[in-house]
Amino acid sequence: MSEPSAVDPTARDIAEKLTPAYRTMLDAIAQVEPRIAQATRAELTDQRHSLKLIASENYASLPVLATMGTWFSDKYAEGTAGHRFYAGCQNVDTVETIAAEHACALFGAEHAYVQPHSGIDANLTAYWTILAHHVETPALEEFGARTVNDLSQADWDTLRHRFNDQRAIGMSLDTGGHLTHGFRPNISGKMFDQRSYGTDPQTGLLDYDKVAELAREFKPLVIVAGYSAYPRRVNFAKMREIADEVGAVLMVDMAHFAGLVAGKVFTGDEDPVPHAQVVTTTTHKSLRGPRGGMVLTTKEYADDVDRGCPMVLGGPLSHVMAAKAVALAEARTQAFRDYAQRVASNSKALAEGLMKRGVKLVTDGTDNHINLLDVTTSFGLTGRQAEAALLDSGIVTNRNSIPADPNGAWYTSGVRIGTPALTSRGFGADEFDRVAELIVTALKATTPVTASTGKPGKAKYHIADGVAQKVHDAADELLGNFPLYPGLDLA
Ligand SMILES: *Cc1c(COP(=O)(O)O)cnc(C)c1O
Repeated sequence: MSEPSAVDPTARDIAEKLTPAYRTMLDAIAQVEPRIAQATRAELTDQRHSLKLIASENYASLPVLATMGTWFSDKYAEGTAGHRFYAGCQNVDTVETIAAEHACALFGAEHAYVQPHSGIDANLTAYWTILAHHVETPALEEFGARTVNDLSQADWDTLRHRFNDQRAIGMSLDTGGHLTHGFRPNISGKMFDQRSYGTDPQTGLLDYDKVAELAREFKPLVIVAGYSAYPRRVNFAKMREIADEVGAVLMVDMAHFAGLVAGKVFTGDEDPVPHAQVVTTTTHKSLRGPRGGMVLTTKEYADDVDRGCPMVLGGPLSHVMAAKAVALAEARTQAFRDYAQRVASNSKALAEGLMKRGVKLVTDGTDNHINLLDVTTSFGLTGRQAEAALLDSGIVTNRNSIPADPNGAWYTSGVRIGTPALTSRGFGADEFDRVAELIVTALKATTPVTASTGKPGKAKYHIADGVAQKVHDAADELLGNFPLYPGLDLA
């Protein structure tokens, strides 16, 4: 397949052309439920006027967004292309096949399954793919059955217990792992007997020796690598070595950093696709596509993952698969590779801007799209206070645990910020240095309000007079130079 032609998703001409279409669409919606049309307009205004630093968010292009608003939503298409449970799926087959082709070409994957509705669905699909391959299939052979429906009640009970006896390891939550990597509040933790690996308390970096030690001792079926709040790259070749040594499957969840893989910022040992048997991702974070998920596998797991429906999914969201195809086509362009490089270089510029103004960062820097600020050490605030004070100042972030967090998982001591969204708006190193300045200005002016116990409170805070407004105005001025969807005028 040839490389798609370069499309600039922030192109003014596309937005201008789509303006009458969006106006008409909102009018049509307003005729049914005006409050929804109003909220849709308000959301665009809010997104245009806030400094969006949430590391998991981005802005999809208008062609990607437009692709989601069609009658593909009305079609049931359980199964896979050419093997559907419903008639009349020829156009969905086209869409799903093109999305999978783009995914394989973009990531160099042997197989792509593009149906998962979200990151959590992608992980659930991946876990059951691995369980089907390594637990169910051998049991069927052992019991002389072709499918699970052929098993006697006793053999089925045996198999069900085997599913529940499996082990997994993943990165601990406080060092940046994700709930779906085997933690008790999530179904993954109820399915697997799970243990966590973490980072070195001195350097904050992933400790591969400790991962290997835990793997040898615990003998998991699945080693999950990947994170949502770790500001560094991972050596997936090393993780695969560890998995091979103990006979485990390496599953990498690249939900957060798929855009950096797609854009060839993470290559060689840092590219998960050549090293992991199973790779999961979202499509809406750094990859800048529609809200959704995907699973990439080696050929060995292709038949199992294709049974995602009925294993854990129902009918696919065909309109979103279509939008994934458009976004993946965009991600195959040189323009996207340039974007991904800027996401990483901007993240470094932001880190330097913060550190030179005295902010303590977890791992003292970044080499991906994430900065994790230790706001307790830097400003005497909890993550919750810092997050709220920044929001008052027009800066949207989220609080996050830091390793061995003294304020616990609710109030936290960290704020996580990411560069994908503002880089999509055109921000460069100078703008991110200014962002660092605004963050520091807002947080330096914020103090915890003393609780009734006489100690500093963890939730209430006070911002010195006028500072939030001043920072808000400065943020708005900065954003004014980089309009979101320039040319899209709904007034
Ligand atoms: C965001 C994220 C998910 C979940 O994605 P959703 O689409 O919100 O379900 C899973 N894993 C990781 C590592 C993530 O960062």
